Amino acid sequence: MSDTMPAIFFGHGNPMNAVSANTYTDAWAAIGRSVPKPKAVLCVSAHWYIPGVAVTAETLPRTIHDFGGFPQELYEVQYPAPGSPELAARVGKLLGPITMDDGGWGLDHGTWSVLCHVFPEADVPVVQLSIDARQPSAWHYELGKRLAPLRNEGVLIAGSGNLVHNLRAFSWGKSDIEPYGWAVRFEARARELMLAGDHAPLADYTSLGEDAMLSSPTPDHFLPLLYVLATQNADDAVTFPVEGFDGGSISMLSVQIG
Ligand code: ZN
Repeated sequence: MSDTMPAIFFGHGNPMNAVSANTYTDAWAAIGRSVPKPKAVLCVSAHWYIPGVAVTAETLPRTIHDFGGFPQELYEVQYPAPGSPELAARVGKLLGPITMDDGGWGLDHGTWSVLCHVFPEADVPVVQLSIDARQPSAWHYELGKRLAPLRNEGVLIAGSGNLVHNLRAFSWGKSDIEPYGWAVRFEARARELMLAGDHAPLADYTSLGEDAMLSSPTPDHFLPLLYVLATQNADDAVTFPVEGFDGGSISMLSVQIG
């Protein structure tokens, strides 16, 4: 038995998953029951995409409702997990000089819409790490490698985004619509590469051609995956504990390393 925590990429999709019960939320809850209870979660969310690297450093991060036009019940969700200034400081040590964010951000829906199912008691401290929007994808993969030691310190490294995320092609309210060919092909290619441990083409995913560009027309939802993959050890299994497409153009795939 190894003490190494897994690293998990979650495809979060529609924020309404926070207040829903469906195959995705059931699978997220099952993941929470299957992993050893972490000391803390470090989450890279697609929705903290800013010009710089920052971590949430406060003891009680607020729940941010960073969206518009959803039903009132979604605005009433609170995810009161504590923060961890210690983990924030540790991440700062590993990554070099980064911003210690003391209340400017908090936990956004990329993080809480998933974790409210994975750890419904909100008793695992959570720290968010921003995505530096100025940097190319390969830079994020390299930065992610520096987080790998945390997996041996009881920290679950999470990414929250979507491997395929094209909102312009998305059909709201049609969860069972047939996914687009480019979405299916890009997800299949990415799965092949992940199973082969061949991360270089994913770290430079725009080189994967038109299917990749249609699947990830903006980098924000794809990049959290690279932080998770970057922490993989040679003996880690790669599994996909959640699968499916929503609205034709959002992949709900989760990727578990270890
Ligand atoms: Zn999102």
